[in-house]
Amino acid sequence: MELIEQIDRWSEVYPERAAHVSGAHSITYRELTSRSNKLAAYLSSTLPSDGSPIVILGHKEIEMLVGFLGCIKSGHPYIPLDTSLPSQRVEVVIETARSSLTLTPEQIREIISDDSENKFTIHKPALNDPWYIIFTSGSTGNPKGVTITRGCLENFVEWVTTEQGFKEGNEIFLNQAPFSFDLSVMDLYASLASGGTLFSINKDEIAEQKVLYKTLAKSDVSFWVSTPSFARMCLMEHSFNQEMLPNVHTFWFCGETLAPDVAANLLKRFPNAKVWNTYGPTEATVATTSIQITEEVVAKYSPLPVGRPKPGTQVVVHDEKANPVADGERGEIIIAGPNVSVGYIHRPDLTARAFFELNNQRAYHTGDWGRVQDGLLFFEGRMDFQIKLHGYRIEIGDIESNLHALTNVQDAVVIPAMKNERADYLVAFMILKSKSEKSDFEVMREMKRQLSERVPDYMVPRKFVFLAEFPTTTNGKVDRKKLAETIQ
Ligand code: AMP
Repeated sequence: MELIEQIDRWSEVYPERAAHVSGAHSITYRELTSRSNKLAAYLSSTLPSDGSPIVILGHKEIEMLVGFLGCIKSGHPYIPLDTSLPSQRVEVVIETARSSLTLTPEQIREIISDDSENKFTIHKPALNDPWYIIFTSGSTGNPKGVTITRGCLENFVEWVTTEQGFKEGNEIFLNQAPFSFDLSVMDLYASLASGGTLFSINKDEIAEQKVLYKTLAKSDVSFWVSTPSFARMCLMEHSFNQEMLPNVHTFWFCGETLAPDVAANLLKRFPNAKVWNTYGPTEATVATTSIQITEEVVAKYSPLPVGRPKPGTQVVVHDEKANPVADGERGEIIIAGPNVSVGYIHRPDLTARAFFELNNQRAYHTGDWGRVQDGLLFFEGRMDFQIKLHGYRIEIGDIESNLHALTNVQDAVVIPAMKNERADYLVAFMILKSKSEKSDFEVMREMKRQLSERVPDYMVPRKFVFLAEFPTTTNGKVDRKKLAETIQ
């Protein structure tokens, strides 16, 4: 069954079940279907049927899903943008995507409250039609729009549905990431495809710790989807455990490194839950590899593996000459398969650089270093975090992994301090597991000593800054830019 039919079917099977809960508001499956049909009828009657993308600009409002499905049903892909984006950035996206319409939750509410009847037939996207376009930051400072087709999305949804075995009409999915971040595609469509309830927490709730834990305690979430950074933050609250979320049976992570201590603590605090680590870029539809992180996996590997490829998708590690490397050797992770995007919207230049064909499948250069060991993929940092420091070639990820392995280190981020656009020295931002009685200077000296036992001296950061937590981006990842600003 096509995804859109699968979603609409719930309005007959579970009409009164909440499809989305956000703050004090919720929308049932019956309402979601009727309102998205209403919006689609309006869009079909007012827009040319040219398949041009529509920007849905909001946060976690219950009109967001109406907007997404209304666009699809009228033959237009959508671009989810979060209100936290500066308006200049929104303008760049609209211009790049050549989008002629932007809808906010207020506008959607107004359109669907109109009583007039518009005749229309639900548009059924073809497999290669774009479903959504998510903008990610580009290395040159301009965002690029990753085009995900119906085929990519259905392929991803089918995989996670089979692998995770969602209980139909029974799950409550945590939605932490904004809809502009592709991690949210996991909770949104896993929920819609299985007749679940999407439980959103909004930015105000996240910013206010007391409110956040109260909201979580009321949520009854069964399937947790977030960045590892968000889970780490929650773990700082001692009451964050199985008692707070009695029905949670799975923690599903993607988007950044899942540190072993986060996985181990979750397994301890939530004895009824499984922890999954998954890996993949927006360009390959959320995630491409996965592994269940058990206590045995935590005991055996540090860093943790990111898993095995989903069926039907190739994940290979290439050297600079595009030859597969031997197991245990490092190279670039290449992903090929039906979940790989068709490219960056209206940017054939960037598309040609990043995408190619491999064994008759669309393939993508991730720009990630990886290694295969024991049949498992390991993520080894970004290729573009490679720097030259006084002539030495250094991977920032290499230093960070080694810092993670030192005693009493909870998290570590290394940033090069720049002088005249060149790396001058390295600064390590550290979160310790427990506060030391020694002075910061003494702790730093001891860490430098320990680190110099693991890496060449030129890779030992000159400065160490000890923090209680790292700033995070709106997507919930560590905000490296903000950390870098503190050393300029
Ligand atoms: P995004 O497109 O925002 O999802 O970012 C994709 C990038 O996040 C990947 O290319 C990786 O560099 C990183 N990433 C994704 N998943 C993981 C993971 N499980 N572990 C480490 N890094 C990850």
